[in-house]
Amino acid sequence: MQNNLHPSWTPPQDFIQVESQVTGVVVYAPRPESAEQDQARSYACPNCGANIAYDVAAGGVACEYCGYSAPVQAKQVGKSAENFEFTLEAIAQSSQGWGVQRQILHCDSCGGDISIPDGTLTATCPFCASHQVNVVASVEETLRPRFLVPFKITPQQTRSLAGEWLGKGWYHPKELSANTVLQRLTGVYLPFWTFNTRVRARWRAQVGYERTSRQYNARTKRWETRTKIVWRWEDGHVRLNIEDHLVSGSANRHISHQILNRLLPFHLNALVAYEPDYLAGWQAQAYETTLTEAWEIGKRAIREQAKKACHRDIPTSHVRNFSMSADFTDEAWRYILMPVYLAAYQFEDQIYQVMLNGQTGVVAGQKPVAWLKVWLVIAALLAPGVFLGLIGLPLLMVGGIGVISIGLSIILFVVGVIISFMLYNQARQSEAK
Ligand SMILES: [Zn+2]
Ligand SMILES: [Zn+2]
Repeated sequence: MQNNLHPSWTPPQDFIQVESQVTGVVVYAPRPESAEQDQARSYACPNCGANIAYDVAAGGVACEYCGYSAPVQAKQVGKSAENFEFTLEAIAQSSQGWGVQRQILHCDSCGGDISIPDGTLTATCPFCASHQVNVVASVEETLRPRFLVPFKITPQQTRSLAGEWLGKGWYHPKELSANTVLQRLTGVYLPFWTFNTRVRARWRAQVGYERTSRQYNARTKRWETRTKIVWRWEDGHVRLNIEDHLVSGSANRHISHQILNRLLPFHLNALVAYEPDYLAGWQAQAYETTLTEAWEIGKRAIREQAKKACHRDIPTSHVRNFSMSADFTDEAWRYILMPVYLAAYQFEDQIYQVMLNGQTGVVAGQKPVAWLKVWLVIAALLAPGVFLGLIGLPLLMVGGIGVISIGLSIILFVVGVIISFMLYNQARQSEAK
């Protein structure tokens, strides 16, 4: 993009446009030392020349043909992993790309991009299960991740973990074969931003205090207790120290954030410095949500936390005209990768996603519902109440017995409605994105 005011001006060679902190101002910075040297790194086995890949059980790169293996030389940094300040220099000086030659699998159906190891043959989009994909050369436009949590769950373990999850619940269609899902589970490193910050929130609100008084009621000739609320303007402030606030770097249209949230937490004490070796043979996604966008999302969530903390500070539950201002200081960020097994599958024209936390083994996802089964069970739950009511109505003419049967039918009906409602919600949540 050119600077509008000086159309003739072009940035010096080796300068690239970087993220601007001021809207409307275009900023150029020297192109960061790129990883050209790294790109020569080969993932061919030194013994037999076959492709080597990161092996979860071995904790290093390994060759599945001749048994060669080598550990990844990366130190575990855990939660002390370095944070970066929100400065232009910190962003501009960050390395870009994956540090090794990789390809991009672009999906024409959902528009998703996934980084795949050089030379891999993959024909399915991990986000939407579409086959309308094409492989393009990787462009080094995004920052390089600094840290990652390595996979702990092996691909073999995913079969039993996800299989168990798929088997739960009776209201799923029989045709939903576990194999279609299990075979599709692909290990993908997903992008995340983490934020640290200090927050000082000032609040002001009208706080209500209950005042009870005893009054004599002349009409009923009795003393009565009356409660009224006395409102008072009050203010205060709350300080929060936010550490490792996680924001997904994937767009919601490619990776369902609702499902992703159910996979949490990841244990950040397992963070290691980023090494391209971890990605050998594995898929990875570069962030789609930029640092600035992610920080806006993060701030919104942190503001909600601050609001709750303010409310906890208020001694009563009667609050009105609440307002709050929050100042953020010492903001710092990290761009990290988290291990997730992902499967997208199609069932009757709908796309469903299943995810498995590659560190903890937690499974979450969508399962189609056989609604006919659900409605039949709901009908069976409501039938006894209705039936008994129908018998009870003519008996009302006779008296006593009719009243009992109507009363019982109402109880049965209400219980049936409550259970049906819970069942319906459970089934709906199972399909929900
Ligand atoms: Zn080999
Ligand atoms: Zn797709």
